[in-house]
Parts: sequence; C-alpha cells; structure tokens
Amino acid sequence: MFTLSDIRAEFDRLDAISGLNTKNVKIRISTRMTQTLGVCRSRTNRETKHIEIVDVAIADYLCRYGTAEEFLDTVRHEYAHLYNIVHDGVRCGHDARWKQTARWLGATPARVANYHDLLERARRGGAIPEKNKGGQLKKKDAIQVPRESAEVFRQICRLAAQGVSVGEFLLGKVLIEGGLGVIPAPEEGWTWIERAARHGEPRAIEWMQRKENAYAK
Ligand SMILES: [Zn+2]
Repeated sequence: MFTLSDIRAEFDRLDAISGLNTKNVKIRISTRMTQTLGVCRSRTNRETKHIEIVDVAIADYLCRYGTAEEFLDTVRHEYAHLYNIVHDGVRCGHDARWKQTARWLGATPARVANYHDLLERARRGGAIPEKNKGGQLKKKDAIQVPRESAEVFRQICRLAAQGVSVGEFLLGKVLIEGGLGVIPAPEEGWTWIERAARHGEPRAIEWMQRKENAYAK
C-alpha cells in the first residue's frame, strides 16, 4: 500500500536530482483511473502563455496493488513529464526528449507498461472492473485540460451522479467520444448511455437502438 506521502517522498528525491522544486505541485490519488496508471495534467495560462501544471494523479489501484517497482516507475514517469513542462516549457509527449529525461530520472522510457500481474491483483481485489481485460496500461501523455472543460465535465459528472438522464447521456457521450480533457473509456460510456436510456433520455434511446442495429447486422 502506497500513499500520498510515498509519492511526495519520491518527488522530493527527484527534486534533489533535477533541481526543480515541486513542493507546490498538487498530487492526488485517483480511484476513477482504471485504464491508466498515472497522468500529469497541464494547461496554458491565457495571459502569460506559460504552460502550468494542473496536477499529477496516480491510480489508486496501483497504490494498493502495485509493487514498489511498478509504483516508483509510474511516479518517475509522470515526474519526467512534469520536468519537461516546468524546466523545458514544452509538452513533448513520449518523444526523444522525454525518453532522455525518463532515463535520467530512473523511469522506463516507454509509453505503456505491461503490468499483467498488477491488473490481475487489482481485479481480484475489486479495485478495477472485471472488464479491464487489456494487459497494456497507458501512462497518459501530458494532456492539456482547459479550465472551462474541466468545469463542464465536473458538472456533467455531478448531474449523472444525481441520476439526471441528460447528465447520464452526456457523460456516456464524452466517455465514448472523448473531449473535455477526458480519457475515453467506451465500455464505461455505454453503461451510462444505457442508464440514460432507461431513464427515458431520447438521444440515449436512439444511441442504444443504433448500437443494437449495428450488432444485428
Ligand atoms: Zn506518459
């Protein structure tokens, strides 16, 4: 079991290597991330045009079921993204520059990790859905989430959680199609469309019919 203070401790250790000061970077553990291990989110400040870090999130199931190696590799992976943004002022995805930073900081210079064992442990523990069959876990790119998009998504989630059918439909739509800074999760998206259809949302009913027709063919 790893905690926020373990992430913080590794960030402090990496600060000593890189010369950055990440004391004020928001770090969180996410229970919503079941397809990814970690993410470093950033946005462009509209006035200064500088890229700013929004936060770094590490998946809850990784903290609960990951080995020290899996956990630290992910923390360093996200720190490397953060370094490229803060020190170099660029989001460079997983290109040559990032790979160099990752190696320097002791992370595997790869976009994806094959953590079959971790998935198996997390599934058995009920931390991630049974349907996450894929063995490949993405360590997400440093994606940009505009402030407004993040707020719109929060509102959609709130409505969906309250059982409002329009909210359920919109959450399903955004999970299927992506957008608003959301990492697409189509299977989860369809469960929301189905729920919205049951609650009588006309667009959701239409989507379900189209889906069924597509399968019937
Ligand atoms: Zn990455």
